[in-house]
Amino acid sequence: MSGHYVVLSRKYRPKNLDDLIGQEVMAQFIRTCLNENKVPHAFLFHGIRGIGKTTTARILARCLSCVGNNDPSRPTSSPCGTCKSCIAIDNDNHMDVMEFDAASRTGVDDIREIVESTQYVPVLGKSKIFIIDEVHMLSKSAFNALLKTLEEPPPHVKFIFATTELSKVPETVLSRCMTFQLNPIPTAKLAEHVLDIANKEGFTMEAEAAEIVATESGGSVRDALSMLDQIIMLSYKEGSITSDTVIKTIGGARQCDVDAILDFVITGNPSDATQLTEHVIASGCAPFTLFSSLQSTLYKRITEHVRKRDKKLSNLLYLWQILLKQTENMKSAEHPEHVLIAAIVILAHTASFPKIEDLMIKDQPTADNSYNLVQKILARFPGSDVSEIG
Ligand SMILES: [Zn+2]
Repeated sequence: MSGHYVVLSRKYRPKNLDDLIGQEVMAQFIRTCLNENKVPHAFLFHGIRGIGKTTTARILARCLSCVGNNDPSRPTSSPCGTCKSCIAIDNDNHMDVMEFDAASRTGVDDIREIVESTQYVPVLGKSKIFIIDEVHMLSKSAFNALLKTLEEPPPHVKFIFATTELSKVPETVLSRCMTFQLNPIPTAKLAEHVLDIANKEGFTMEAEAAEIVATESGGSVRDALSMLDQIIMLSYKEGSITSDTVIKTIGGARQCDVDAILDFVITGNPSDATQLTEHVIASGCAPFTLFSSLQSTLYKRITEHVRKRDKKLSNLLYLWQILLKQTENMKSAEHPEHVLIAAIVILAHTASFPKIEDLMIKDQPTADNSYNLVQKILARFPGSDVSEIG
């Protein structure tokens, strides 16, 4: 490897609405606004980090500024990519597109500067665009300074805000924006994207390896691609990416181990379940990562049972509830591995609980078989005196 390495999230940053993955509904909405030339003067994109908020903001800026299309009075939903405006945006030096990070420029003076510059007409493109990232970080006085301009901006001015914390954006600002929530990218879709980029970079990649990366990144494209950056660094010699390499790089768990732990749990074998869990953690997998993998694997099994209309579902749902309740404990625990092991033990013991399906009565309920049901339930618990009933 020689020269300057461009990180994958930058190299493969989407440049058009069509390239955005997992945000099809929003993309279609924006496309319609642009094609109908009914573009609001302020947009706000919110959602977790790394799912494309600022990327969408830049794509929108591109659509609003492109001068390569025939009608100069209208925006376009498919910017040409070759005009001076498109090129300037790609090179981050467009004179009419200003990007601010509210995390570092939170003060009222910064906003006054923006407000002042809205008076000048665009130099290169059709609009003057202000992208404010992490807009919730602006101070109260900064928001107030912005409000009047946001209410009645000059016709050539567009504001595009992005935030990870919508609840911290004042209602007065929200009510003046067209708001879009960006969703975490579904695992299967993200895995496909990771695999595609690995191939474009000249690597073969096991499907399971891509799936681990996608699961680990929690639906964030940026996190998935920075993981892939690291994995690629370690895979240059081999030219191929295996799930073992991924696990070594990110400290994940092998799917076969996760499946085996879950099988031990379901068959009521706490001893083997905890032993394997300890082994996986000792091999370098972070407890929370293993916990998340167990959760997503259990989720997959539940959906498979639902699809097959399998009636023996209640036990899995019960396990799911127990795992879900441990999420916060896992996050806040000083020793998350202890919480995980304890959860595994509890889960494995639930296998000996009576299952709802076993207790169901096939015929119509009558006083007689209701009595049988109560007896049946009580008989499962040691020490209960069945003769007292009735
Ligand atoms: Zn263009």
